[in-house]
Amino acid sequence: MFSAPWSDAVRLLVATTNPNKIREIQGMLEGLDIDLIGLRDVPPVDEPEEMGVTFAANARDKARYYARATGLLAVAEDSGLIIDALGGEPGVHSARYGGRDAPDYPAKFALIYDRLAACGGLRSPARFVCALAVASGDLVLFESYGVIEGRIADAPGGNQGFGYDPIFFYPPLGRTLAEIDTSDKAAISHRGQAFRRLRTFLESSCPDHEDGQV
Ligand code: IMP
Repeated sequence: MFSAPWSDAVRLLVATTNPNKIREIQGMLEGLDIDLIGLRDVPPVDEPEEMGVTFAANARDKARYYARATGLLAVAEDSGLIIDALGGEPGVHSARYGGRDAPDYPAKFALIYDRLAACGGLRSPARFVCALAVASGDLVLFESYGVIEGRIADAPGGNQGFGYDPIFFYPPLGRTLAEIDTSDKAAISHRGQAFRRLRTFLESSCPDHEDGQV
């Protein structure tokens, strides 16, 4: 049986510098009796380079890196957009897709629409994926994964969310992810799925767990 490597209140470092992700993750772990801290609450640590070729490898590497650097239990995630007609791009390169030629999201969107038009792939099926890992030192204690399937929108729409949300059309709601609010997005999103699994893990692993309360 798994023995939790903590006692008393759990301190969990959310290892991301992306304020949009932090906002979403805080909502997803809300209500747990866990001391959730961010990178701003610990002495500065250099950002690691993402070397992995998969989301899962990047999440594991990041979680271990920050756990080792801070001595804390750390959760890290790696996520991105996969577009079928572009052979899976931008994929693990989502944050830096287009390089200097596409420094902001409107420019990344333009690049994507140009490439889709060139290959006859407008409205391509697409998915957001999120891999998550929790580490203590070098040890990965937990991993999970979430996927949301959709397609590229006819045109960018909406001003909520972040990143590629305006061009990701979610057919069951008939809207882009930038046209729904944060809590509705969390209920369906790749990140929401991965963090709900983490939530269940934390609820069942913490020593004070009682009647579903941590
Ligand atoms: P990383 O995980 O920090 O390498 O960056 C992931 C990148 O994927 C983000 O910077 C966004 O460009 C994109 N991405 C991941 N999740 C989402 C999402 O929920 N909405 C929109 N874009 C996302």
